[in-house]
Formats: sequence, C-alpha cells, structure tokens
Amino acid sequence: MNSICIYCGSSAGTDPAFLEEAVRAGTLIAQQGLTLVYGGGRVGLMGAVADAALAAGGRVVGVMPADLVAQEIAHTGLTDLHVVNSMHERKWRMAELSDGFLCLPGGPGTFEEIFEQWTWALLGFHAKPCGFVNVNGYYNLLRQTIQQMADKGFSTPPYVDMLIYAKDTAEALDRFRAYQPPPPKWNRTPVEQRY
Ligand code: AMP
Repeated sequence: MNSICIYCGSSAGTDPAFLEEAVRAGTLIAQQGLTLVYGGGRVGLMGAVADAALAAGGRVVGVMPADLVAQEIAHTGLTDLHVVNSMHERKWRMAELSDGFLCLPGGPGTFEEIFEQWTWALLGFHAKPCGFVNVNGYYNLLRQTIQQMADKGFSTPPYVDMLIYAKDTAEALDRFRAYQPPPPKWNRTPVEQRY
C-alpha cells in the first residue's frame, strides 16, 4: 500500500475527538510513508488531515473540480493539486490514485464517496479496502443500517463484512494491509484492476 484516500468532513463536527483523530491520521499517514489523497480542501477535517500530513513531511495530493478551486476553498500548500472538470472526474481520479479508502467522520459527501467505492469493490471493479475510523461510535448507526441490508436481503455477508471498522487510524491502516477482497458479485472473472 503506497497511498491512502481519506474521505472526511468539510466541517470539523461537534466532537473535539474528530479533529484530534484527523490530525493523528494525517501524521500517521506521513510517518508510514503513504501518500495522502483527498478532496483538496483546506476546511474542516479535510484541511486538518492535510495540514498534519504536510507538517509531518508527507506527500499530499488533492483533487478538486475547477469551480470549487475558484471559490478559494482549495488548500494552497499541497504537494500536488489536480484540478478536474467535474465531481465525477474528481472521484474517479481520487480512486485511481489510491490503494485504499478510509472514512473519518463526515457528512453527505463522505458517505457518498465511500458508498461508491464500496459498490465498486463488491462488483469487483477494484480490490482495494474500504473502511471507517469509528471515532466515538460515529459510524455505529451506519454499521447497523448496513447490517440491516443483509438481514433484509439487499446484501450478503461477504459484502457487508468486507467493510472495516477500526477504533483509530493506526488499526485501520494495519487492517487495510491485511485485507483480502471477497469474490466479486455476479461471479465475474477474478478482480481485474479497472483503473
Ligand atoms: P462532507 O462530508 O459533506 O463535508 O463532504 C466532504 C467530502 O466530500 C470530502 O471527502 C471531499 O472529498 C468532498 N467535499 C465536500 N465539500 C468539499 C469542499 N468544500 N472541498 C473539497 N472537497 C469537498
């Protein structure tokens, strides 16, 4: 694993533990020699992860659509900022550049991003790990909702169980390294890296 994509809030949230974990995450990613790939913003937890990784000497790559850059919410001190044309292109580029997808607490943007990568993973479009840093139980209800998908017949255990829930970023990164993907849904031929 050379790079990790962090999805997280463009706000800091109300619990100070969220910001603390974001700083720890950025620092650890840099210390482990991983490239941080993220949405490129300077606000909220996103900005905190990037700042911490840069402060620890890490490499940080942001990917942002041109209209968000124009609104001046882009981080200006990154190792590299990819300016793309659309949100779809952005998510594709972030996915392409990353070896795993990890959520810190966040809002709708964070949920949308990880659900997309989970879906691509279970269809076998990639074999990269997806998971959550469950700071103070922030993702407990989501985990229950996802379990309900299996209980009510809209998913099955391998695809529910492939998601990693970790107490902190250190545990998440260890488990990402040990990750084994499930067989792809629909009996497609073995996972082929599509991007
Ligand atoms: P949210 O969780 O709704 O705050 O959205 C944060 C997630 O969506 C991040 O992981 C980003 O990739 C993306 N995102 C949302 N808003 C922004 C923004 N202002 N700047 C950069 N990325 C953003």
